[in-house]
Amino acid sequence: MPCRIEKIAVIGAGVMGAQIAAHLANCGYNSLLLDLNLSIVRSALEKLAKARPPALFTEGVLGRITQGSINDNLKDVAGCSWIIEAVPEVIEIKRDLFSSLEKIITDEQIVTSNTSGISLELLTKGRSDRFKKSFFITHFFNPVRYMKLVELVTGPDTDRVKAEIIRLFLATQMGKGVVRAKDTPGFIANRIGVFEVMDAINKTFTAGWPIDLVDLVMGTPSAMPKSAIFRTADLVGLDTLLHVAKNTYDLCPCDSRRDILIPHPAVEKMVREGHLGLKSGSGFYEKRGDQIFVFDPSNGEYRPKISHRAESIGRAKKTSNPAERVKALFEGSDEAASIAKTLLTDVLVYAAGVAAEISDSIVDIDNAMRWGYNWELGPFELMDAVGAAALGDNAPDILRDVKERGRGSFYCSENGKKVYYDFKAGIYKQLATGAVTVKSIKGRSGALKENGSTSIVDIGDGVICLEFHSKMNSIDPDMISMMDTGVDLLDAGRFAGMVMYNDAGDFSVGANLLMIAMAIGSKSWNQVEDLVRKFQDAGQRMRFSKRPVVAAPFGRTLGGGCEVCLAAGNVVAAAETYMGLVELGVGLIPAGGGCKNMLLQMEQNQIDMHNPKDKIWFSPDDGGPFPKAAAAFETIALARVAASGADAVRLGYLKKGAGIVISRDDLLVNARQYVLGCAGSYRPPVLREDIALPGLGGKMAIMNNVKSMRAQGKISDYDMELADGLAHVLTGGDKPVCHQTSEQHILDLEREVFLRLCGNEKTVARIQHMLTTGRPLRN
Ligand code: NAD
Repeated sequence: MPCRIEKIAVIGAGVMGAQIAAHLANCGYNSLLLDLNLSIVRSALEKLAKARPPALFTEGVLGRITQGSINDNLKDVAGCSWIIEAVPEVIEIKRDLFSSLEKIITDEQIVTSNTSGISLELLTKGRSDRFKKSFFITHFFNPVRYMKLVELVTGPDTDRVKAEIIRLFLATQMGKGVVRAKDTPGFIANRIGVFEVMDAINKTFTAGWPIDLVDLVMGTPSAMPKSAIFRTADLVGLDTLLHVAKNTYDLCPCDSRRDILIPHPAVEKMVREGHLGLKSGSGFYEKRGDQIFVFDPSNGEYRPKISHRAESIGRAKKTSNPAERVKALFEGSDEAASIAKTLLTDVLVYAAGVAAEISDSIVDIDNAMRWGYNWELGPFELMDAVGAAALGDNAPDILRDVKERGRGSFYCSENGKKVYYDFKAGIYKQLATGAVTVKSIKGRSGALKENGSTSIVDIGDGVICLEFHSKMNSIDPDMISMMDTGVDLLDAGRFAGMVMYNDAGDFSVGANLLMIAMAIGSKSWNQVEDLVRKFQDAGQRMRFSKRPVVAAPFGRTLGGGCEVCLAAGNVVAAAETYMGLVELGVGLIPAGGGCKNMLLQMEQNQIDMHNPKDKIWFSPDDGGPFPKAAAAFETIALARVAASGADAVRLGYLKKGAGIVISRDDLLVNARQYVLGCAGSYRPPVLREDIALPGLGGKMAIMNNVKSMRAQGKISDYDMELADGLAHVLTGGDKPVCHQTSEQHILDLEREVFLRLCGNEKTVARIQHMLTTGRPLRN
């Protein structure tokens, strides 16, 4: 019996197989990737390196993938504890492969299929009992790195221990959310998801609803992903969607609602005429220059996209709570509300109707839709939000059952614990403890301190958590004052350390630009300076706190959010962390200690690389004080954003050896553990008064490169001015030669340049543009 998964074989280097091997490599695992011939594998790896969004944490991880051909190297799977099949969705091809594998695998090995729809029963037909014991389905979702869901389907003969080993591996080593699905067509997520999309498309074409209105209401207001129905269909490809719908139709002869999967004739015509979505340039939407056109089902022509307004959407959008958003739609009476009610009712009633056929648990169904289709709430959570009565008279048995045998809702609380309705047993059961969240801890024991954008929460074992909760976690004065309060609490001696973490999708998108824009607008320069100084001081207090302050970033960690992590110095980051000092995009430079701390981090990198005898000046052979300034300049001036936690190490935002946690669900617990691990012997860094910088000579060298970029038209005059301000700070101000300086002096330079840039109308234009469009302006 295998007790450890070490090397893994992936057979089939197509869309999915290559991505599965890539993600295994991201997670530190070696794999053997096989396809019909070596050139297919080679070109798959080349595609991985260029994939957008990036499939790889860093390009270097590709080295963990060994290439091979099925003909020559199938025997090499002997060295692999887990073999993943990802060949085309053609039963004969899969069966041939399993027949070959059967002859070479041992009892210790595990074989899984990535099929998206073929039943396990069919896949294993004709195979020996020995093979069936080692075989089951692990259905990954595309893109593999980013989609949390893996559906795990076992058969009556599958060895339960082997299935559990892989379930644990997926969850703990690959950061996946695993649900158990029954061996039925489309398993859980595609069965419900394909129904939802086809139902919405067909009803829209029959009723003549405007496609852009349907997308507007079926996205965020309905607790569904922003791309809603038609933009999702364009992304997937209309031909692929119809193909999947037809497959599901064919495989589900007993599904009484399967006619919904037959596409509207007008949609079939679009596919015939080549309107396939993004890949063909036009689908339900078409981009013409700067303008977006949308297909009009009533006349088969494209018309300019309209900004629809609806009172019900307005009300739904007022709240960030997804259950309340959907409730607001169900209470509305305009056309948007009526569309949402019709489509959501259809899919919820469908999900309730097939629940017992596809799964043993509503929790697995809800998780599958959240992790595989990016719904904010699963179907049963949505049913609780709107109430069974809102779903009409045709409610399936499970809805009547939860009313008659249960307490009327699928989830509720019992003795302070969340329970769910087990429809098989007709009783409520406690939910397995999932991720530890600040919200759940705060719900139980409240906050120690709280203001509009930040809370300090006791997260147990003597550790406190500084939780941001402003809009997009943008940094404001309330947050800065709570950083101070957190360090005050540590200084008072009651706590072992502090973690900076929150439950949102992004750690922090940076400073509150609206507030900066307003201060600039009213020429309140003292206010701007005061804010920057307080941010710098709070950063320094966290850095030199006698008890450890540990930042636990994830998602977007930009500008001020990145500076907070640099200041803390101790970081445990999620693998999916997109970190960067992007201030130049809004006409500013990092001034919350970002420049200073990047210099220190780049200096450490240089020491690690060269191990110079003189750790301060470095010998001329080691480049002297110039390389660290040049490296920090390049990263900040190009506003580089790391593609992952590992990439943040490469770019110098994180120290070498920083903790990287693969599963976001484990991040808070890991960060708390880090505090506890170092609390006993913790020593803060020494305040530096001896930072060697290159002075004006260094600045000139940096600016020579910048000027050449200007001459080539790669940057604007204002980019050059910003670069000049940044180089001024990073080389030590106007000091003519190499010199030593203090942390405080560099912070003073950051503040001075930041304030000067605030007074420039081009910076104001960049900030306004970011606030109104969410994108940087290059002026
Ligand atoms: P694909 O066509 O992109 O890749 C399949 C690979 O298998 C090709 O590189 C092909 O050369 C290789 N192959 C190996 N042996 C072969 C043989 N005997 N004949 C032909 N080709 C052979 O397919 P994919 O999209 O990666 O799908 C692989 C599996 O994953 C399928 O079962 C599919 O249903 C499933 N799946 C796909 C997606 C998706 O979004 N594409 C999502 C989830 C699951």
